[in-house]
Amino acid sequence: MSKLFKRTKILATIGPATNTAEKIEEIIMAGANGCRLNCSHGSNEERDQQIKWIREAAEKKGRSVAILQDLQGPKIRLGFLKDNHLDLKAGDEVILESMEFEHDGGLVVPVQYNLAEKVKVGEPISMFDGKIKAKIIEIVSDTAIKIRVENDGFIMSRKGLNLPDTDFGGDILTPKDLADIEYGAGCDYDYVSLSFVQRASDILKLKQLLLSYGSTAKVIAKIETKKAIESDENLEEIVKASDGIMVARGDMAVEAGAEVVPIIQRRLIALCREHAKLCIVATQMLSSMVDNLEPTRAEVSDVATAVVQGADVVMLSDETANGKYPVETVKEMKKVILYTQNHSRIAPISKLPVGETSEIYDAISNAAARMAEKIEADVIVCQTASGATAMSMAAERPNVPIVSVTRNPRVANQLALIYANSAFVRTYSEDFGYDLARELKESGYLKTEEGKKDLVAVIVSGDKDKVGTDTIKVRWV
Ligand code: PGA
Ligand code: MN
Repeated sequence: MSKLFKRTKILATIGPATNTAEKIEEIIMAGANGCRLNCSHGSNEERDQQIKWIREAAEKKGRSVAILQDLQGPKIRLGFLKDNHLDLKAGDEVILESMEFEHDGGLVVPVQYNLAEKVKVGEPISMFDGKIKAKIIEIVSDTAIKIRVENDGFIMSRKGLNLPDTDFGGDILTPKDLADIEYGAGCDYDYVSLSFVQRASDILKLKQLLLSYGSTAKVIAKIETKKAIESDENLEEIVKASDGIMVARGDMAVEAGAEVVPIIQRRLIALCREHAKLCIVATQMLSSMVDNLEPTRAEVSDVATAVVQGADVVMLSDETANGKYPVETVKEMKKVILYTQNHSRIAPISKLPVGETSEIYDAISNAAARMAEKIEADVIVCQTASGATAMSMAAERPNVPIVSVTRNPRVANQLALIYANSAFVRTYSEDFGYDLARELKESGYLKTEEGKKDLVAVIVSGDKDKVGTDTIKVRWV
């Protein structure tokens, strides 16, 4: 039974390739547990429509699906170029000007953000995903800087800039982000992610803003700057301040070098598991499927590696946003996840360091996971109010599915991205975990192992008025 549920979740980016009610329903049916709406592209109206389609599809299929609002952060983009194209040669000196003007095809190029306020002479800058490398050689005015190009190539309209050594000084939220946060707080988002996070204070600031607008969304830090990964202490501070992180490998490779990415990925997954935070591995996981029906061997291996390392979520970007085969890509990813989880084990990580005390729910979930394995339970059932117990349970990475039951629909949607969790909303009763297990068995959703008569469930629960999660029960269902 446990072999049929994928424990690592899939987050699919919505874009032109999936921008209809039908396509959204199809990718959810194919195995997407969450959808990413990218604020770098599209309008509020388009995102409102997409949220509506996702909620309708989820409702129709009786599933919890998470919706993530991805904030652009200080991802600075070029403006519009004449003929959408500008050739550059090594040694060219280009002015990046933030005042609005029309590009005439020359070396004064429009840029969306006032770099003159933030950069220093001598810092590196790259354009178009690192295809053009350059150095900042002069601050020309209050609104313009001059750079010297180091290699031949070309740039196109709206392509991104990377400034790996520039310190945004605790001020990474752009006016666009502030508007997106305010508008998004009134929308049905379960998660908000922030691009180009540099330090924990960036996340705390975002959390405060969301709180002030009454949002209940959880916050994800996208790890993709040199600054964020500069020291292990800084990385851990960011993980602790966030509800989860995204290993944003695309920009990380441009900022820090591609060779850095696999090691940071490992470290981040381990840190998230230690702190019971959500971990998403993102970018180029099956990128050749943008154009082809078959992934490369290396891509399959990449997805399998994230599963073995214990990531909660693997993400699809261009594959589902702009690719030719969005539904097939989700199916392929699911197939790789299932095979990998059914033929490997995730090495345990201790959330309970020897000699240190821990939260009661962490100790309970640790014991429950070990117990479930010893008695070969079919399912772990988690009665959870805020989702913390379910996340702590998931951090143990049990090789048994977790069914969570909560009164709160927001929590259920958030748990859709948490390792091994399927979450259901039910009205509270002292035994609603057991009741749900029985219901899911009767409906055929949960099946007993071949040859067994009853489902074996390990149920963790608690009484809110006492110490929170404090009880482990074993029940035959
Ligand atoms: P993006 O983030 O797709 O929003 O750039 C992910 C990454 O950089 O890998
Ligand atoms: Mn990025």
